[in-house]
Amino acid sequence: MAEMFYDDDADLSLIQNKKVAIIGYGSQGHAHALNLRDSGVQVVVGLREGSTSWNKAAEQGLEVAPIAQAVASADIVMILTPDQVQRHVYASEIAPNLKADAALFFAHGFNIRFGYISPDASHDICMVAPKGPGHTVRRQYEEGRGVPAIVAVENDASGSAWDLALSYAKAVGATRAGVVKTTFNEETETDLFGEQAVLCGGVSQLIQYGFETLVEAGYQPEIAYFEVCHELKLIVDLINEGGLAKQRWSCSDTAEYGDYVSGPRVITPDVKDHMKDVLADIQSGAFAKRFIDDQDAGAPEFLALRAKGESHPIEATGQALRKSFGWSSRDEDYTDGSAA
Ligand code: NAD
Ligand code: MG
Ligand code: MG
Ligand code: MG
Ligand code: MG
Repeated sequence: MAEMFYDDDADLSLIQNKKVAIIGYGSQGHAHALNLRDSGVQVVVGLREGSTSWNKAAEQGLEVAPIAQAVASADIVMILTPDQVQRHVYASEIAPNLKADAALFFAHGFNIRFGYISPDASHDICMVAPKGPGHTVRRQYEEGRGVPAIVAVENDASGSAWDLALSYAKAVGATRAGVVKTTFNEETETDLFGEQAVLCGGVSQLIQYGFETLVEAGYQPEIAYFEVCHELKLIVDLINEGGLAKQRWSCSDTAEYGDYVSGPRVITPDVKDHMKDVLADIQSGAFAKRFIDDQDAGAPEFLALRAKGESHPIEATGQALRKSFGWSSRDEDYTDGSAA
């Protein structure tokens, strides 16, 4: 069983005696900054001058400063800009202004694992990676609950990096749920694999193929959308509550039998071989290099793939259908950042 930590294992006063700079105010950034502040921690949000987030953070009563200035004043610097810009921000504004004994924190190990950021040995390097979207991290904290996190220490310069990481995890609410000990390598490789093979990549492709199969066979796109996409959330909720067993218990015997006999016909053993190839590209750094090289070139591949995804017929069908649901009055908004 993995090593787990809860509120009683963490000392909040450690971080309450430090100043924390949160760099970036997106999905994770706003949640960390507000939860830390509400836990009695001194927080400064570091942003680019002219950033659209500046007023948002200031309106929440947070201290906001240019990144260089925020870093220079901080004992802990949590880097919550997008992964592909972290090394640029680190080189230009963080490293030159970092106190010699400041601790560097991350919510994902990408830049450390693949060597895009190599801090001096004088810094603690810690990770507190909530296992949920930033907006849930904030909402659950406000409700007195917390999103679980995984925590790691890559470099323990102070000798107390682990205590500090747990203190941070407590301040964002994660130890209320439970915190699992990991390493930067394990978190990075498994996080990338999960989102590529299953959560984002695998599920998206599965939904698109399911939709295409029904529509090409002459069924109404709206019905196809219901059957292969809309109901997915209801299934995932059951899996989240009680595993595959609860999902199978709750659905009909017909569905359960179909699961057993047809699931393995669709997801054949060669899919697992392809998953192993994906994992190998993650472990070798080939995926990281492809992503970063493309981003550095202005993201031509990324933007073309995004446009291709947006033009798949299931998107138009889904958008029209979701608007026409009686219970759905909420505008669709993707500006808040991603969950993975
Ligand atoms: P995001 O895209 O939501 O927000 C990034 C923020 O960084 C922006 O809002 C902006 O304030 C700032 N920013 C953007 N470009 C910048 C630039 N060029 N220079 C300086 N600042 C810039 O990011 P996110 O999804 O919250 O991800 C932050 C980190 O958290 C990443 O390491 C990610 O892997 C990790 N993470 C995210 C989630 C999640 O829920 N989104 C979950 C776990 C871990
Ligand atoms: Mg993840
Ligand atoms: Mg059905
Ligand atoms: Mg059943
Ligand atoms: Mg991820």
